[in-house]
Amino acid sequence: MLNLPIMMPFVNLSAQRDAYRQELEKAEKAVLDSGCYIGGPEVQALERELSAYCGGVQTVTCGSGTQAIEIALMVLGLEPGDQVIVPDFTFIAPAECVAKLGGIPVFADIDPKTLQIDPESVKNLVGPKTKGIIAVNLFGQCAPYEALRKIADECGLWILEDSAQAFGATFTAGGNARRACSFGDISITSFYPSKPLGCYGDGGAIFTANAEYAEKARLIANHGSCERYRHVEIGVNSRLDALQAAVLWVKLRHLDQELKQRAENAKVYDEFFASLSGFAPQAIVAGNTSTYAQYTVLAENRDEFIAKLNAAGIPYCIHYPMPLHRQACFDVAAAGANSANCPVTEKICKQVISLPFCAFTDVKGVVEKLR
Ligand SMILES: *Cc1c(COP(=O)(O)O)cnc(C)c1O
Repeated sequence: MLNLPIMMPFVNLSAQRDAYRQELEKAEKAVLDSGCYIGGPEVQALERELSAYCGGVQTVTCGSGTQAIEIALMVLGLEPGDQVIVPDFTFIAPAECVAKLGGIPVFADIDPKTLQIDPESVKNLVGPKTKGIIAVNLFGQCAPYEALRKIADECGLWILEDSAQAFGATFTAGGNARRACSFGDISITSFYPSKPLGCYGDGGAIFTANAEYAEKARLIANHGSCERYRHVEIGVNSRLDALQAAVLWVKLRHLDQELKQRAENAKVYDEFFASLSGFAPQAIVAGNTSTYAQYTVLAENRDEFIAKLNAAGIPYCIHYPMPLHRQACFDVAAAGANSANCPVTEKICKQVISLPFCAFTDVKGVVEKLR
C-alpha cells in the first residue's frame, strides 16, 4: 500500500457507494449471475427510464459520451470540410469529434458570467459551410437554447446538445421547464463515473425526438448492423454493458434527491464566496437549475487562492486551463483555429477554479477550513 496523505476526495464516489451499497450489490450480482453482459434486459429497461426522465425523447445507450457525440455527428451526416460551431471553453470532446470526422470545428466565445457559449459569437461565425452548432451544458447548466434555436432556424443549422455534465438539469423556455437532453436535434450525455449520473466504467447515451435519427444511431452504434451479420452502414462498436446499466438503474432512482442536495451544497459555497471580494461563482440564469457537475468560481487572484487551498489540504481542479482553439491538436485539423478570436475565453481560463463537489461532499467543512 502506498502511504499517501489523506486528502478529501474531489468527488466522493465511495461515500455514494456506501449510501446505496445494498441496492448496488444486489443489482450487480444479478447481472454477473445472469450470463448476459452486453445489451439485454437491463440496458433496455434503462433506456425506457432515461427516455421518460427526459420527457419522452428516444434513448440509445452507447459506450461513452465522446462516442455518443461521434455517432450523433454521423447520424446528422457530417461530411469532410463541413464546419461546426463549438464553444472554445469546454472539454475537448465536441471539437475533437468534429475534427475526427474530417469536419472543421469553429470556436465560439462565451458569456463572461454564465461561461456558456455566446449566441452573438455564434451568429458572427455562421458561414456557407456551417452545418450545425454543438452547445455544451457547461458545468451542469443548460446553454441558452432559446437564442441558439433562433439562430439555427434562421440559418438552417442543426443543434447537437452536449449534456455530458448536465443530465437532470432543467431549462425554462416560454414559461415551461424542460429537462436537459431534450433541446438538441440530437442530445447526448456521459455516464463517466464522476458525472452527475455516473456508472462504474465508461458509458453514454444519445437522445432524440426524431425516430429516424434514433434508428440510425442504434444502427451506427452496433457496426451499422440492422440484424446479425447484415451491415447497411459503416458504424462503430459502442455499447453499454449490462453491469453499467444495472448501476445506472439504481443511481437514477436517487438522482433527484442528489440534485437537491447538490443545489443545497452549492448554496453553501455561494454564500461563502458572496462574503469575500474578488470571487464570482458561475452565474446560473433565473429559471435554470444546474446539476453542478462542477462548482466553478472565477478568482481574480487565483494563485493566491490556490496557495490557500493547498495550505488547507483542499483539492481543486482547473476547468479549463486553455482555450480549445490554442490546443496543438487543432493546429492542422481546424484550419485557422489558432487565430480564433475569443477574448472572453482567454481571460476566463486564467481565473476559473473548481472546488470539491458532489451530493456527499462536506462543503461546510471545506468552507470552515477556508475562513
Ligand atoms: C465528459 C465530457 C464528455 C465526454 O464524455 P466521456 O463519457 O468521458 O467520453 C463530452 N463533453 C463534455 C462537455 C464532457 O464534460
